[in-house]
Amino acid sequence: MSVNQTKNRQILLVRRPQGKGVASDDMRLVEVACTEPGEGQVRVRVIYISIDPVTRLWMNEDPPVVPPMKLGRVVTSMGIGIVEVSNDAGLPVDTLVHGFFGWQSYVTCYGTEVTVLPAAPSLPFTAHLSLLGPIGLTAYFGLLELGVPKPGETLLVSGAAGAVGSLVGQIGKIQGCRVIGIAGGVEKCRYLVDELGFDEAIDYKNENVSAHLASLPQTGIDVYFDNVGGPIHDAVVPHLNEFARVVYCGEISSGYETSKVTSKISSLDIIVKALKLIGLRVDLYYSRAGEAVPWLAYWALSGKLKHRVHLLDGLENAPEALNMVFAGQNRGRMAVQVSPVPGG
Ligand code: NAP
Repeated sequence: MSVNQTKNRQILLVRRPQGKGVASDDMRLVEVACTEPGEGQVRVRVIYISIDPVTRLWMNEDPPVVPPMKLGRVVTSMGIGIVEVSNDAGLPVDTLVHGFFGWQSYVTCYGTEVTVLPAAPSLPFTAHLSLLGPIGLTAYFGLLELGVPKPGETLLVSGAAGAVGSLVGQIGKIQGCRVIGIAGGVEKCRYLVDELGFDEAIDYKNENVSAHLASLPQTGIDVYFDNVGGPIHDAVVPHLNEFARVVYCGEISSGYETSKVTSKISSLDIIVKALKLIGLRVDLYYSRAGEAVPWLAYWALSGKLKHRVHLLDGLENAPEALNMVFAGQNRGRMAVQVSPVPGG
């Protein structure tokens, strides 16, 4: 009988986090032997772990949509990897894939649980973490299909310097909108205007968002893409125009410490202004990735859509990476590199 020598490093959730972010005592790093793939299974070497703010919500006892993470089990998250061992004829060795791999260096799973990465040889490999993956789909479908922006309309996006927000604002510019971004700090606001071509940026850490919106010559918001919820959402509501669309994408201002968050918008606001409030769930669009990816790649290659990835090196840094996102310390799509990129 052959003995499997490949070691798998894993980060387990051993205690439910309390308060903002995660603490070192909530996690344990362990090393175990890799599970041998059975019939129809593959072993994937994880290259990148996606650091999504929603991972913190999934650690709570009662997250919406997904079952709660079990204590003593690998932290759930999406990732990108390469098939190293295959018992699935449809997934040969060296196929690049993405899926729910968790915070670990290898995963053994059924071939049906992974998705082959789309080919994009002209773009950097890290584009699969942002533009060409769930982040790109969130921005593309959230804005175009739910926000339905028209040329000349005003689009406001919060969390604007982040992974989703920066794409939303740039796609808004491609659609001919006037785009205003809300982000924390002078440097991020400069990045929005100087690098990404936003028309205006509001530094919510140093300015009153409502007063800044009121001071703009062309008043009123037609599409609000909300990545943060909380006080920023409430400050925006009075500035919505008649027939405005609000795309609810994220609630990061809550720190995802609880599954119950509230915001200030009244049914009278909704009726009087004939608002459309729309919830966005990117998983509902995964099967339609083929509609979005060619456009996202085309805009990136023609220089109209910039994207950046903030990488930390080493599996053990995944908790720190998650905390950095809640502290606003990420510059672009946050991810952790767990092993080398093939040929890279
Ligand atoms: P990101 O924007 O790259 O990073 C998160 C950013 O949120 C931070 O850099 C920080 O930027 C900002 N932030 C943190 N705490 C905040 C607070 N209290 N108030 C306001 N802003 C705060 O992250 P992302 O991956 O692109 O995700 C953005 C949002 O979209 C998140 O809420 C995420 O959960 C959501 N999302 C939803 C879906 C969906 O299917 N609905 C899919 C993907 C992502 P500043 O420095 O500007 O504060």
